[in-house]
Amino acid sequence: MEIAPVLVVGGGPAGASAASELERLGVGHILLDRAGFPRDKPCAGILPPTVSDLTGPVPAAVRERSIRGYFLHTVSGRTFRSRFSRPGCSVDRSRFDAWLVSRLRTPPRRGVFVGAAEEAGLVVAQTDGPDVGCRVLIGADGAVSRAGAAARIRPGKLAFACQASVPMGRAEISRRTGDWFHVFYVIPAGYGWVAPHAGELRVGVGSLRRDRAGREALGRFLASARVGELTGGRPGADFRSHRIPMSGPPERTGRGRILLAGDAGGFVFPGTGEGIRFAIASGRCAAEAAAAAVKDGWEGPDLQAEYTRLLTAGGLLSLREVDFQSVLDTPESAERYVRRLTSLSRRASSSSPRRRPPGS
Ligand SMILES: Cc1cc2nc3c(=O)[nH]c(=O)nc-3n(C[C@H](O)[C@H](O)[C@H](O)COP(=O)(O)OP(=O)(O)OC[C@H]3O[C@@H](n4cnc5c(N)ncnc54)[C@H](O)[C@@H]3O)c2cc1C
Repeated sequence: MEIAPVLVVGGGPAGASAASELERLGVGHILLDRAGFPRDKPCAGILPPTVSDLTGPVPAAVRERSIRGYFLHTVSGRTFRSRFSRPGCSVDRSRFDAWLVSRLRTPPRRGVFVGAAEEAGLVVAQTDGPDVGCRVLIGADGAVSRAGAAARIRPGKLAFACQASVPMGRAEISRRTGDWFHVFYVIPAGYGWVAPHAGELRVGVGSLRRDRAGREALGRFLASARVGELTGGRPGADFRSHRIPMSGPPERTGRGRILLAGDAGGFVFPGTGEGIRFAIASGRCAAEAAAAAVKDGWEGPDLQAEYTRLLTAGGLLSLREVDFQSVLDTPESAERYVRRLTSLSRRASSSSPRRRPPGS
């Protein structure tokens, strides 16, 4: 059995950020991913500017398009605008995630995590290769997490999501969507979106109801008049499905010597599906708690308490505070929520121009 102080399972934004933080703190680790990089992840690829505050400037070769904020479209036909305090960008996830792992001194290792058991102060992780013994295991293996199952943590609600690509030239994208991410609250228990990229729009639907977020539901969304104005009525291609955590982090974000970060820990803003920023931030908190546990020889309870403290200090547990199941239950309830948010944000920006609008 190979021994490492920390094993990070999953090399997406959460796992890559955890590994990078462990390198900064001088703590040995293995980063394991079942895929080789670059690997794709179905995603609208919208990064608010706060992501580059965490990662440093996203290179020009990775940025696809500048994004100024959101247009929120409601069922009654109204549109609300929420502008970022400065531009963000859209990215292709295969290039963005490959860029994150390319900055690590120790590249990810290819392998599948299967399960884990605690033995004599170690977590013994079973993989499709040799077992790995570690003091702390960081589960950053996405929305359907085997690390979460190994820690016996029931995940929160997961939305079904389906996304397609609509190829379009840059000039036409500028004319139709501008540099804005469009979110439509017209789908029960979820939403749809249109995200501008370099030579395509990414159009998708996500809902807790499977029948509202499959390929047929996406076909209906694409065929709707308001979405058609943005897509020029073109059909989608390259349909891909995935899951999105929709109820914030569950009551426990780890157990014993296992910590969950990113989608595995439910760190997604359920109102828009934004998760990359929270994956990076929670991955770093997990690494910081793991490093302290390794250096000071902590047992599970101290490790868990430190992780909760760091998540709380970073505002990450507030993702579970709003009951988005009731907010998004019907398009009408979503509209009431959006109206309230935008009026709050207008009031906040008139009293303090530096404050960010909610959800941006
Ligand atoms: C359709 C869609 C659109 C989205 N749009 C946006 C958006 O515009 N902006 C935004 O901020 N967020 C968006 N999100 C959310 C965002 O994609 C996630 O929050 C983010 O990818 C979470 O990062 P992560 O590192 O936790 O997990 P992931 O990116 O899912 O990475 C998990 C990694 O774990 C690996 N893995 C999984 N299982 C195992 C195993 N058993 N063994 C080894 N490795 C394993 C996988 O190969 C993968 O590399 C969207 C999500 C979806 C589904």
